[in-house]
Amino acid sequence: MENGKTMMAADAGGAARERLEAVLDGLESAVYAADARNDEILFANRAFRTLHGGDTVGRVLRDLVVPLPERGDYRVDPRGLAGDDAPCELFDGELLQPRGGRWYHVREQAVRWVDGRIVRLGIATDITDRKKTAEIARQQEERISRTARLITMGEMASMLAHEINQPLSAIANYCAGCIARMQAGASMQELLPAMRKASEQAERAGKIIRRIREFVKKSEPRRAPAPVSAILDEALAFAEIDARRAGIRLAVDVAPGLPDVYADRIMIEQVVLNLVRNGLDAMKDAIGDERVLTVRARACGERLVEIAVIDRGHGIDEEDRERLFQPFFTTKAEGMGMGLAICRSIVEFHNGRLSVESGPEDGTMFAFTLPVEGGACE
Ligand code: ADP
Repeated sequence: MENGKTMMAADAGGAARERLEAVLDGLESAVYAADARNDEILFANRAFRTLHGGDTVGRVLRDLVVPLPERGDYRVDPRGLAGDDAPCELFDGELLQPRGGRWYHVREQAVRWVDGRIVRLGIATDITDRKKTAEIARQQEERISRTARLITMGEMASMLAHEINQPLSAIANYCAGCIARMQAGASMQELLPAMRKASEQAERAGKIIRRIREFVKKSEPRRAPAPVSAILDEALAFAEIDARRAGIRLAVDVAPGLPDVYADRIMIEQVVLNLVRNGLDAMKDAIGDERVLTVRARACGERLVEIAVIDRGHGIDEEDRERLFQPFFTTKAEGMGMGLAICRSIVEFHNGRLSVESGPEDGTMFAFTLPVEGGACE
């Protein structure tokens, strides 16, 4: 009876060990246990064996693929540990395997082995890909702040001229209209709508200057939840004047039920306006039915909204495409080449992406993403 119990206990112990080994073998990280005094490997899981091309038990832990801490890196020298000292943490850090160039997160602890010896129990996880992703994110951040810094005082002057010209010429037009009507003896009542519009344009110009000044001061954009359709309405109200003059129809296609975006409205309106104006410029030679420029907004997953400006203009050469976003790149006689550089800075400040591709029907499509309210992934 006694004997039977012992056997059952031994079976249960064996089953538990098998289960544990199965779990350890299922891990992607390399797990090993080595004698703390002479580095002899006592256990290695599947990932560790795969890395070393076969069984490693009995071999010495040095000179293997997984990088290990140098003696001096340990918190305490594992060779000098006695039974009562374990368990204790020996090492926790990132190590580079110089031969393969891969990075590992290595963690080692001193524990008592089944036979009472002190062993180093280690787990090494390959973090090369994670490190690469972090490096790409860092480079991206650097690029964003570089783009942002591009907006120097001189560039701001060009940008101001570019942005302010529109409301100023509208004001001049409204005033000229009023003068003509006054000379023709029009009543105050008749002049009022045009005067109101002129005053709105002046306010708009003031807002643009204030926002640009804040932007250059590197203050954070003032973001708040904003309905996409309101942003587009506002931007297109300005673009409408140019579009009508050019005989181009603006089509707006906003998907129903879009969530609000988390954005600085004035800045995003500037982006849309710039993209639409570029689209209109590119469509000078479009004919008949082609004279439509579409502004489309739709959800892009659950956390982003994509706004696209789709023209049917002359398109963009491969060679020019590379340089589009560089400040001062322009192919227009009167161009400043700042519009797209600024648009990209603004979109990236909003954690979005501005991209360009050929339009669905010739022409070009500029599309950018914005985080939705509550979905900002910063
Ligand atoms: P600008 O409009 O002052 O030239 P931008 O930075 O806005 O400055 O645009 C840079 C250049 O990119 C333009 O000169 C033009 O060559 C090209 N471009 C921009 N948008 C379009 C478009 N929708 N279609 C074709 N070319 C475009």
